[in-house]
Amino acid sequence: MENCIFCKIIRGEIPSVKVYEDDDMVIINDIAPQAKKHYLLLPKKHYANIIEMSEEDAVTLGRCLKKLSTLVDKLGLENGFRLVSNKGEDAFQTVQHLHVHILGGEKLGEKMCSFDANILDN
Ligand code: 5GP
Ligand code: ZN
Repeated sequence: MENCIFCKIIRGEIPSVKVYEDDDMVIINDIAPQAKKHYLLLPKKHYANIIEMSEEDAVTLGRCLKKLSTLVDKLGLENGFRLVSNKGEDAFQTVQHLHVHILGGEKLGEKMCSFDANILDN
């Protein structure tokens, strides 16, 4: 994936702060943090999103998520964290290489989005 920003970061062609790396993934600091700690978990294999993910990719991503349990101290997430993976227009996915946002390091907002349940009829 020649022109993918995250592939370039993974290959080291674009600088980033890599806080963890193994055969499956890298974890970097988000360039525009939306929480005190805001990391991006990037699987090394390029695919755009969960819809394009193969069975094998799903196993790899599961292994990546499990690995987080060993990294909470190193990442400063002892009190908890939130995982988000945006897909498509409604979710404002801007980089078409699957990534999981890891947010924490502080008390996050209670709501995850701007949805207001009071506007529903049913
Ligand atoms: P999305 O909106 O696709 O879910 O998230 C993309 C994220 O990638 C954004 O939070 C944005 O700040 C981050 N990002 C975009 N370009 C770069 C970059 O060159 N370096 C780093 N570290 N993060 C980036
Ligand atoms: Zn990519």
